[in-house]
Amino acid sequence: MPYRVSLPPERRVDASVHSPAASPIPENPVTPVAAGNTTRPILAKRRPRPRRTMYGYPWPDAISGLGDRRVRSFDLCTDCHRGTWIVYGDKPLCLACAQEKTQGTS
Ligand SMILES: [Zn+2]
Repeated sequence: MPYRVSLPPERRVDASVHSPAASPIPENPVTPVAAGNTTRPILAKRRPRPRRTMYGYPWPDAISGLGDRRVRSFDLCTDCHRGTWIVYGDKPLCLACAQEKTQGTS
């Protein structure tokens, strides 16, 4: 037996919403102008960060004696029992312990 389902009234898409004239983005962006005496420019140019070759900075890529850095399921650091996703070889290490080990070897 078929049953009836009452659907909500069909929404009509207002044509003016999609017209470019109603775009929320103004065609002419407003240029910020400093008013009065400002001690420093509003849009100070950021100093570019120095490029690092290490992908997972500040994590060391590998620890000698343990192995390369890999991401695993959440585990506890073998040294300090903090939670970490990073293992070196089969040894989960937190950031502090991993950095400590690389500083000790290099
Ligand atoms: Zn640790």
